[in-house]
Amino acid sequence: MGLSEIRQQIAAACALAGRDPAQVTLIAVSKQQPDDRVTAALDAGQRVFGENYVQEAQRKWPPLRDRFAGVELHLVGPLQSNKARAAVELFDAIHSIDRPSLAQRLARMVQDTGRAPRMFVQVNTGDEPQKAGISPAQADGFIAECLALDLPVIGCMCIPPDNADPTQHFRLLRDIAARNGLPALSMGMSADFQTAIAQGATHIRVGSAIFGARTTG
Ligand SMILES: *Cc1c(COP(=O)(O)O)cnc(C)c1O
Repeated sequence: MGLSEIRQQIAAACALAGRDPAQVTLIAVSKQQPDDRVTAALDAGQRVFGENYVQEAQRKWPPLRDRFAGVELHLVGPLQSNKARAAVELFDAIHSIDRPSLAQRLARMVQDTGRAPRMFVQVNTGDEPQKAGISPAQADGFIAECLALDLPVIGCMCIPPDNADPTQHFRLLRDIAARNGLPALSMGMSADFQTAIAQGATHIRVGSAIFGARTTG
């Protein structure tokens, strides 16, 4: 589809929802995309990117940041505790805070490095056993724990179950964030970002609809 079409669709979804497009950050998820596609998006002015894997991002982004000013990098994939330091050093936002051990480790790394990426608590809105994220029933307690650790948590993130109507999952996430006083909502991907915008998404994570199918491992 491409970046300009996505921007038009974001504007249309915002108009329908009576929202200002400036309230919706488009994160271009560039995981496993060939370099020329990522460079083309940078040339077209895109500056906010998402990656799933710390090591892939460590290889890819330092040279691109040397060439393009103002890049903002979001980690949207699961984070292993042993990569917490590298993640804090590289990323400007981390969307996958989902367990106390990781929160504690990140708090230590924020202290050690003096860097404080904005953070999202990932909620497993469908309570799917194979999926990352804190269970909705434990979300309030976990968010309080993160805030008590002084983590810069600004919002919640979810990935609705495949083959489910995402609307109820987006609403559940919105309710959890609202009752915990968190303003940001990271929700919506290529297939459902318009629905997410209608439900209040502030950060949408769009990969294949911008770049095409993922090709590299
Ligand atoms: C890969 C990925 C995306 C982007 O997915 P598309 O369907 O290609 O838009 C968004 N969020 C997360 C967490 C992802 O892993």
